[in-house]
Amino acid sequence: MTIPFIAVGHGELDNNPDIPEEYNCPRCNHKHPVQYGENVEKDGTKTPSKMLAYVKCKKGVYLVGINGKMLK
Ligand SMILES: [Zn+2]
Repeated sequence: MTIPFIAVGHGELDNNPDIPEEYNCPRCNHKHPVQYGENVEKDGTKTPSKMLAYVKCKKGVYLVGINGKMLK
């Protein structure tokens, strides 16, 4: 999965809505379950991370939120 470079300032998303479990996709007008990325630890194990929220639509992966807040 590739994530486009984005810059979000600390606290910049604090007033944005919380991330829902399902995302109304503006691209296909369907709902997609919101998925989350993982942290890869130094020993190679993976732990779930809520930092990046994304949905999969057709062949694309789209970032929808960061650290519990929607991008707008
Ligand atoms: Zn879609």
